[in-house]
Amino acid sequence: MNRAVVWFTKDLRLHDNETLCRAIDSCDEVIPLYCLDEEVFNKTTFGFQKTGPFRKKFLYESLLDLNEQLKSLGSGLILLKGKPEVVIPEFTSKYYVGKVFTLSQFAPEEIKLQQKVESELHKVNCQIDTFSTQSLYDKKDLPFSVAQVPEVFTSFRNKVESKSSVRTTFNCPSNIKTPPIDATSQLELYLEINNYSFTADSRAAMQFKGGESEGIKRLHYYLEGSHAIETYKVTRNGLIGERYSTKFSPWLAMGCLSPRLVYHEIKKYEKQHLANESTYWVIFELLWREFFIWMMKKHPNQYFKLNGISNSQTLLPKNDEASLLKWINGETKSDFVNANMIELKLTGFMSNRGRQNVASYLCNDLNLDWRYGAAYFEQQLIDYDVSSNWCNWAYIAGVGNNPRGKSVFNIEKQANDYDSDKSYRKLWLENVHNQLKY
Ligand code: FAD
Repeated sequence: MNRAVVWFTKDLRLHDNETLCRAIDSCDEVIPLYCLDEEVFNKTTFGFQKTGPFRKKFLYESLLDLNEQLKSLGSGLILLKGKPEVVIPEFTSKYYVGKVFTLSQFAPEEIKLQQKVESELHKVNCQIDTFSTQSLYDKKDLPFSVAQVPEVFTSFRNKVESKSSVRTTFNCPSNIKTPPIDATSQLELYLEINNYSFTADSRAAMQFKGGESEGIKRLHYYLEGSHAIETYKVTRNGLIGERYSTKFSPWLAMGCLSPRLVYHEIKKYEKQHLANESTYWVIFELLWREFFIWMMKKHPNQYFKLNGISNSQTLLPKNDEASLLKWINGETKSDFVNANMIELKLTGFMSNRGRQNVASYLCNDLNLDWRYGAAYFEQQLIDYDVSSNWCNWAYIAGVGNNPRGKSVFNIEKQANDYDSDKSYRKLWLENVHNQLKY
């Protein structure tokens, strides 16, 4: 009997999941598995949690949805708790599994963990096979090697757009043959996950819910459902509500939505309805996400250092905990920064315009170490994504891929340009703050 485990990580979906499809095609029986490693809730060296409550809830909802989707195909999700390099080999030995299928990681911590699991699996005669399911382009289709990925976004974009194409998506499997597994020990974990629930502040841009069902719903709503994509380029710098931008980011980050599905759905929309600058601009933004994925792959450890990928020595920033706390709590001298930081604190989300401004403020006005800002975002963001977060922060701090050096925003001007009637600031600063319920 040829038996495989599909180890889900940042690919919590059935659609366009090459890892799952390859396992089903090549093995008689497939066991879908997720490993909840308590490590992801620990603190980082910067003193913040790796995963705050908003993303924890989103993750749990995504796991419950994945379990439901799998059950509808005659299978189900096995949940293990513990260190993956310990519990996964234990599991594969117990159930005579010959191969583990999983996604190919591109960030250093995740790669290190995967390598540990791989070496422990080898000890119990189990192989591991990996597939790239997080990026728009497959590594093999890039017009350059990873070592030669262009350092400037425009050059990257021009090359991939002219020389590469986005692969078609994999269909959802129609059924999965899974052997009987003693899942009683996982019941407690499911109960823990099921009971983790709270509502974000009612002023939130959106009440996000994890899972591929919700991700696909949002995708269809933003395209055929509301046609909001046709005005994206005009609205994308907005600050209030669910319409101004796609809000695909949390589902993309957790792998509940495949970037290739988003790409091909936009292409289909353009053929059936309208192709304009706005419909293209969503793809343009997805290329930023893509650029940072390959940048992190190219410079695996650099983006977490004070000097990032730059060769020049950065002036030592101030070590000023009081200023950092004021920034976090929305108590700085800038009301625009404060409104954004309060939104982030109470909802786990902030617009792209807001993120750029608060990051610039931390780096340039407060002169703090940008990595504390990035680490707080890592804890707080519902859509935290290792490469998008750290590479964007490094970009603004002037130690990443910005050919012009630092991004220094005139916050007053930005507030006047994007919140001229102060409605955004009033929304977050004048209303009584709801308490977080969790
Ligand atoms: P839209 O404007 O609708 O864009 C569509 C998609 O394109 C997004 O979902 C996202 O996948 C991608 N995208 C858009 N802008 C960027 C960008 N600048 N970099 C990379 N991808 C982009 N995005 C994350 O997904 N996770 C993060 O942890 C993250 N941290 C950030 C930190 C800073 C300091 C900054 C300036 C930006 C960060 N971004 C991050 C990028 C961007 O702000 C968010 O992707 C976007 O605001 C999410 O909302 P949306 O899905 O409505 O985006």
